[in-house]
Amino acid sequence: MKLDRVYGQERVKQVLEPLVRTLREEKIESLFLEFIGPEGVGKLTTAIEVAKAVNCESNQDYPCGNCSHCVQIGHFQHPDLILIIPGMNDEKDQEKSKWKEVYRTLEPRLFYSPIKQIKIEEVRDTIKELWRERPYSGRYRFVIVVNGENLNQYSQNAFLKTLEELYPRTVVIFIVSVPQKILPTVHSRAKKIRFNYLSLNAFMDYFGSLDLEFNKTLLFQISSRSIGRAKRYIHTNFLDVRSKILKNIFESDLDGLITTYSNFINGRKGDELGILYSGFPTDILDFYGVLAEDLLLIKNGLPELIVNTDLKPQLLEFSGKIREDIVLEMLRVYKEVSYWIRSNVDESLVPYALMAPFIGRVFKDTFRSY
Ligand SMILES: [Zn+2]
Repeated sequence: MKLDRVYGQERVKQVLEPLVRTLREEKIESLFLEFIGPEGVGKLTTAIEVAKAVNCESNQDYPCGNCSHCVQIGHFQHPDLILIIPGMNDEKDQEKSKWKEVYRTLEPRLFYSPIKQIKIEEVRDTIKELWRERPYSGRYRFVIVVNGENLNQYSQNAFLKTLEELYPRTVVIFIVSVPQKILPTVHSRAKKIRFNYLSLNAFMDYFGSLDLEFNKTLLFQISSRSIGRAKRYIHTNFLDVRSKILKNIFESDLDGLITTYSNFINGRKGDELGILYSGFPTDILDFYGVLAEDLLLIKNGLPELIVNTDLKPQLLEFSGKIREDIVLEMLRVYKEVSYWIRSNVDESLVPYALMAPFIGRVFKDTFRSY
């Protein structure tokens, strides 16, 4: 087996190799996998490559990438590949066809938001699909649920049922970055495959092959070693957006921050295809958290350890003018907002919350009531 498209994750590949072989020999009826690990380190890519490898016609070096199964799965058009990506199936038809275009040309992980909920109807449609007795044309059908943690408990249980009823030749893969939100009953039934943060080498291997003008080491640092995030940062111009956010916060400019935030969330047209590259609220939120940590490091005489190295001059200036208790308040806000933003709270409130430590009590009290 060769999983060339998966960077790093050597241990995962070792675990998957015998599993894929067993499936290719059609020795088991159904399988429930949980791919657990941080965002953007190759979980979805691996799931797709495993689906190819199991169904590939070649008997050596599978997935070959050229047979009809590999090609169709790679284009998300294989009849035995069922993908549940939050936010994809609930858009208008026009939106849906745009998604398909995106799938064909680019990797999907840029486009799914870590906080989008999965609707119960999407799950019901999928389960209905599973009543079919056998896969259409492949050895196994694959049901891949992206952000499995965003399924509510009824949907999670519905998936568990599909396994108990032994739908033949079905592999269900939950892709999960917040395992605490997976039901214990589901968790205990799944075979868990753990993905790690990428090494600098794996990260550089990936980005080294691309012709990019970005500072790759900086990208590695600020994306928390996540290829998926790093790519999104490039497409959404996040490296520049960061300095705007810093300036807005530094100047206590709430209107400015609201504008920066909404422009970022609403997206920026890419060159090819006119695709809208939208940033996620969590990108800004996480930057805010790291910003606070950087400020604390500087205040404690450790400026050489900061993550946002390109913003060092601004951070040095900022840290001289901001009290330590306000920085600590930033960290508290970061924690609190990280929690509620994943519980379906109105995203437009984020900039108000982030500005709270700088704009006094009124804002703080408003924010606390959420
Ligand atoms: Zn193939």
